[in-house]
Amino acid sequence: MRVNTDQQKYLIDVFGLPDKDLAAVRERMGEKERISISSAEARILQFLIRGFDIEKIVEFGTLYGYSALAMAKVLPDDGVVFTLEKEPEHHRFAAETFKSSPHGKKIVSLCGDAADLMREIEGKGPFDMVFIDANKSGYVDYLNWAEKHLRRGGLIVGDNTFLWGGVYGTPPSHASESQVVAMKEFNKRLSDSSKYNSTLIPTAEGLTVAQKL
Ligand code: SAH
Ligand code: MG
Repeated sequence: MRVNTDQQKYLIDVFGLPDKDLAAVRERMGEKERISISSAEARILQFLIRGFDIEKIVEFGTLYGYSALAMAKVLPDDGVVFTLEKEPEHHRFAAETFKSSPHGKKIVSLCGDAADLMREIEGKGPFDMVFIDANKSGYVDYLNWAEKHLRRGGLIVGDNTFLWGGVYGTPPSHASESQVVAMKEFNKRLSDSSKYNSTLIPTAEGLTVAQKL
């Protein structure tokens, strides 16, 4: 998400921790910065991690490692982020990101299709938080997995859950029908108040947050 709005600048000036490592990663991302979460959204993830005693996280979609490093920074020393990424080039770039900070040692970065990798790591569960930010058509599969491998009281967080307007209005041309169907089901299921304490935080692109009851 772009970060150069006055609102976001103000928010980070006041509430963001001055953070040289993360700022450097944003610089290195260049054009891909758009695809990553913003620094304001990183701050929301950090707020949730600290507030809900999160120590063991699974992330779907590493990209260049910005969100994984932001999360790792607020974990205790024995905390861990397992981050899953399909593109070898993204995975390699992220490895550099993780090397650039002492908090990178809390990150286990895996390369492959998340649908396979999630099965490989499930023995490391139960997890405290699952952050879903990979291919949008996979969100329901990832949710099915997260529901099984998350501890009670843990968090499921999904990014881009407005699907650029596709869940409530006309989908943009780059959103496929399968993405619209998946994202609507994802939000609907997480809105079930008998299973979750949840909401959709109206960030620019939508951030669904759900605590497993
Ligand atoms: N969480 C990152 C952004 C992730 S962008 C951040 O905020 O910094 C989405 C990423 O998911 C891309 O790098 C893309 O290559 C990856 N991806 C897409 N489909 C995938 C799949 N099936 N398995 C694993 N990763 C996938
Ligand atoms: Mg995203």
